[in-house]
Amino acid sequence: MIPGRCAACKSQRKRCPSDCVFSPHFPPDNPERFASVQKIYGASKVEKMLQDLPPYLQAEAANALCFEAQCRIQDPVYGCVGIISQLHQQIQDAEKQLAMTQAQLAVFNSNIPQQLPQFSQIEDPSNLSPMQSILGQFQNNSTSQAPWFN
Ligand SMILES: [Zn+2]
Repeated sequence: MIPGRCAACKSQRKRCPSDCVFSPHFPPDNPERFASVQKIYGASKVEKMLQDLPPYLQAEAANALCFEAQCRIQDPVYGCVGIISQLHQQIQDAEKQLAMTQAQLAVFNSNIPQQLPQFSQIEDPSNLSPMQSILGQFQNNSTSQAPWFN
């Protein structure tokens, strides 16, 4: 075993050169990271993809390849597209719910004066809740027929 080899070179049983394209992105303490990428894309294709990119994009590309490979292993049919369409569906559901709530708010706001019951409009006392009935009696007694003013 050669110490300091990256996970890719270790997996391919070769010497890890100082300018190894895998080395910054596939550390030896995380062999599963390279194993998933190798399983889905193959080591030589990943090597070529990383070599063709400018250095500042290589880390992001390696992370994307790892994520997509892990998704493909977990969901061989849809891969990360399964997650994307699931999230897209959640966004659509939330947008529908938001539109419905905004429509309900618009209806409610346009009907406030007609919709809310007023004490003066309630004529049948049997429709009142017990608390409204008590409050109504108190209001009637205290405003018009206070016995101490007569
Ligand atoms: Zn290496």
